[in-house]
Parts: sequence; structure tokens; C-alpha cells
Amino acid sequence: MALRSFIEVAKDSHFPLENLPFGVFKPREGPARIGVALGENIVDLAALEEAGLLKDLLPETAAATVFTRDSLNEFLALGRPAWRKVREILQKLLSADTATLRDDTKLRDRVFHRQADVVMQLPAKIGNYTDFYSSYHHAHNVGTMLRGPENALMPNWKWLPVAYHGRASSVVSSGTDVRRPQGQIKPPDAAAPVFGPTKSLDYELEMAFLIGLGNSLGQAMPIDRALDHIFGFVLMNDWSARDIQAWEYQPLGPFLAKNFCTSISPWVVTLEALEAFRKPLPRQDPEPLPYLRAKTDFTFDIQLEAKLQTAKMKTPHTITRTNFQNLYWSISQQLAHHTAGGCNLQPGDLLASGTISGETEESRGCMLELTWRGANPLKLPTDETRKWLEDGDTLAITGWCDGDGYRVGFGEVTGKILPAL
Ligand code: CA
Repeated sequence: MALRSFIEVAKDSHFPLENLPFGVFKPREGPARIGVALGENIVDLAALEEAGLLKDLLPETAAATVFTRDSLNEFLALGRPAWRKVREILQKLLSADTATLRDDTKLRDRVFHRQADVVMQLPAKIGNYTDFYSSYHHAHNVGTMLRGPENALMPNWKWLPVAYHGRASSVVSSGTDVRRPQGQIKPPDAAAPVFGPTKSLDYELEMAFLIGLGNSLGQAMPIDRALDHIFGFVLMNDWSARDIQAWEYQPLGPFLAKNFCTSISPWVVTLEALEAFRKPLPRQDPEPLPYLRAKTDFTFDIQLEAKLQTAKMKTPHTITRTNFQNLYWSISQQLAHHTAGGCNLQPGDLLASGTISGETEESRGCMLELTWRGANPLKLPTDETRKWLEDGDTLAITGWCDGDGYRVGFGEVTGKILPAL
């Protein structure tokens, strides 16, 4: 049964009382601060802090300022007991049965903002960004295109969660326009590369989690403690330039093909809010090495969609329908492997899943797979076709978990393609 707040929340809202995702917003007046989403509103945690309603929740040193900040990093560093406590207090304070805030109209004016009236910012100062490659079907499809179905997966793929270290400075908040990047492109039949705008701009439907508590340099995270370090999840679009990628990626992996822009959704959905949607992790064969074996491991049932809207279209058209359960490696395994050699993660680090593709054609999470490298263009309702994203196109990714009478959602991450400079 759904929890009830004194604030009205539509049945299909992504942000009921069960969710309470954290984000950073800039109100019409005053500096950016931290809030949680509730229906179409934002609950201003800085205002609640100022009113003394979050007193004694946090360690004394942090209590005065942790929400009057333009990033979640200080709150992230407090760890799970503090995150849980804040969530419990908020669920109680916002419940239909609690009078404190419900009956204080003056305080309510200060605490609630309409989401439509504010500007959302990046939720954290992201120091480091890592992108995994954990969807079997994505890796298999891409491998098939490059090497044929017999050698689709590299020999390491089922032994370790493959990843590369990405670029944190170009991670942007949803709604930021995406400039078509330029780089070196070498057509297959050309003797030498040319420099120019990418002709094969793509999206990648991904999810990413934010690190809360970090670990010390040299101290690996044991797999059964990995979850202590994860604060929550966002949606992510890892914009990609396939022609640039094809020429530059060997032997060290993606560079300019990926570092021009990565978009994330503004609301961070906590592990607590996702707990009700845990599912068993799909069977792994071969059995992973001992440091990658958790006592109990799991995935989440999160439905995910990508929608394309061209300049001619009146409404967005869904081109991918997939699910978080299509990931082979768990988030605990990703963290255990990332830190196994002693790498230190820090509050606000962003770790992404890789493109989440499933078995069916509809569940492919990027144009590269949907159009099979441009061989089968997408047909759109406007009679337009697309091999790749074109200038003026908008790509949005959304995701949600269906509960009993409520929905825990992630909102969306969206970006519009601008022509190359
Ligand atoms: Ca990616």
C-alpha cells in the first residue's frame, strides 16, 4: 500500500513519499541548496534545517550546514546511518498524519517549492567518473559487429566487470544542450583521416550510482561491504561519436568519442528507496573469482526507456525499452573490482553501468545496436528515418520501478543536439 503525504502526489508520479530522491536546486531567489522531490514539489532541506526540524539528525559538526550547499558531497560523506535517519525523519514529517509541517502554513511557504519554478543542478561535485560495460547483450552485439558472433565477447568479459576511466569535467545536468563534437575520422576506404564533425552521433542508455563514503588508498572494499559505499542512482546518457571512436579506440579505449559530454538526471534515488525492487542477480557462468562473490547478490527491477524527438515531431517517440536487470555484473561486484587493486573512491564519484541492452531488438540501448551501425535505419512516425542522431534531435531517458499502488521513478535525463561549431 502506498504511503500518504499531506502533499498531493499523482498516482503515476515518479516522486511519492516512498521515493524522496535528493537533488540540488536553485530557487528563484537565493543560492542553490539541497532538497528532496515530492510529487511536483521540492522539499527544501536547508529551510527545514534552519527551522530546527533536522536537529540532532546529523553529527554536530555537519548539522549546521550540510544542506545549505550546492552539492551533496558533504552529506554523502556522512554515510548510511545519517542518510537513513534523514529519510526516516522526512517520511514522518511529510506524512498526512504529522501536524508539525502540515499545519504550519508560514513554514510550508518557506519549505515547499514548485519543481517548475526552480533550476536543477548537478547533484554532486563529481571528482571521478568510471563507465562499466556490464550488459551482456550490449557487449555481445558490439563485439559481433566488430569481430563476428564467434568472437563477440573478449576472453576477459565474463571474468571481470570491464570498464574505463571517463571524464568527470564534462558530466552535465539534464537539459544541457549537446554540441556535436569534432575529431579525427578515418573513412574505411580513405588513406588518411580527416578532421570534422562526427557523422555518427549516438546516445547510450545507462544508469549510474554516486559513491557516498569513500575508501582509503590501498584499502579494497570487500564485496560484502560494497553497498555501504553507494548512496543512490541516477539515469545517464553517455553521448558517443561512433566514427571518432572507431579510429581512436585502439589500444587504450575511448577518448574524444566520449569526453565531450555525459548527461545525468538531477534526482538521486537512494538505495533505501530501491530496496523493495530487488531481484536475484542472473546466474553467472563461469563462477566469478572469490573476491567477486557476494553472500547475497541482487539486481533491481527498473524499467528504462529512451525517447527520440526530432524537430518535426510533436511528441517524443520511444525507441528503447529495457530493464536494469539486463546487467550481468552487480553493483557490488563493480565496486569490489574497481577497488581490488587499492584504488580509492571518493564521495561524489560517479560509476556508470554501461549501455543497458536486452535480448530483444526493442531493448537495444543505443543507435549503434538499433540500426546495426546504420545498416537498418530507424523509421519514425513522421516518415523520417535515422541512422544516427541529427542536429535538432532531443533524446530523453526515463526510468521507474512499479510498486503496489505507487511508482518510484528517476524523472528523466534529456539533451538536444546542437550543430558543430
Ligand atoms: Ca558507455
